[in-house]
Amino acid sequence: MIIGILALQGAVSEHQIALEKLAVASKLVLKTTDLQGLDGLIIPGGESTAIKKLMVRENLLEPLKQMVAQGFPVFGTCAGLVLLSQTDSLNGLNGEVVRNGFGRQKDSFEESLTVTGFDTPFMGIFIRAPYLSSVEDGVQVLAKTDDNRIVAASKQNVLVTAFHPELTADTRFHELFIHDFVGQK
Ligand code: GLN
Repeated sequence: MIIGILALQGAVSEHQIALEKLAVASKLVLKTTDLQGLDGLIIPGGESTAIKKLMVRENLLEPLKQMVAQGFPVFGTCAGLVLLSQTDSLNGLNGEVVRNGFGRQKDSFEESLTVTGFDTPFMGIFIRAPYLSSVEDGVQVLAKTDDNRIVAASKQNVLVTAFHPELTADTRFHELFIHDFVGQK
């Protein structure tokens, strides 16, 4: 199994480390040919506008959008959630996204979250994080903040978190992606 990590901008190495801990091979994706032979893809946090511009420049946006539409497993964190939710980006989730929904950088915070399918809470690290204000039919909400904002969700081949699981030592979201999304392909 090889998991790609979109490496145009953002928190790339932290995802590499999380996959290493799970003994899963990863490959950095910088150009279209890097998409060959992958079993799944992680879209990291960072700055979604910058990542989108770079995807367009590197001719990655359209191929990736098609792969997502055809069922290729993707896991987006933070800016990755933004890109997967926007219809003019990767259009993978059918939800309404609010960018920087909790305020600015100084409003970054941690919150212990109850996550569907996890036995114990997961510590969410939110950095200029988005949230989903609504999701359409077929999208499963996996976690909400105390003030009821959707911050983790999934739909068939797509898994998203508004927070950064790769910045914690807790690999449960990466395991979920590997086992239930990539493994089910
Ligand atoms: N606010 C950023 C954006 O919308 C995402 C922040 C992050 O990925 N930590 O692109």
